[in-house]
Amino acid sequence: MKIYRTELDIGLNEKTFMVDPQTIELDNRFSKAECILSSDKISSGYKVYGSINSTTSLKCDRCLIIFENEFQSKISVILTNDKELIKESTSDVVSFLHSDEFTDLSNILRESILIEQPFKKLCKNECKGLCVVCGIDLNNKICSCKKPHSVSGLSDLEDLIN
Ligand SMILES: [Zn+2]
Ligand SMILES: [Zn+2]
Repeated sequence: MKIYRTELDIGLNEKTFMVDPQTIELDNRFSKAECILSSDKISSGYKVYGSINSTTSLKCDRCLIIFENEFQSKISVILTNDKELIKESTSDVVSFLHSDEFTDLSNILRESILIEQPFKKLCKNECKGLCVVCGIDLNNKICSCKKPHSVSGLSDLEDLIN
């Protein structure tokens, strides 16, 4: 995703950028990435910051349905021609020379989105999951299976760990 110097000179004020997730190399589980960005001038360049709202399809760890998940990531980047600042570079400092007409924030956007991906994927916090015996979705139906003791003990343990 490119941001042009001309835009930065005017200043971004919560401008919305609709980004096709595949153009920033996110896989096709991602269906939306919307950035709302603002910018400030700083002595050696610009500061660009804001939020990203993205949508993914995830598979629930417990009941295995596919569900849509929306989440928000933060982004804050310094675009600078200050070589010292670039040398000490962490990922949120980007080289932006006087001769550069634009900068490409695709990599930073992708990283900001991926870092917010939930480790545990649940369609809802109280998802009851599937019956370990008959496989029925316990969110919709109750079955009469007797769960083997060891298995329910194990799933209690798993809940504790998770
Ligand atoms: Zn579920
Ligand atoms: Zn069952």
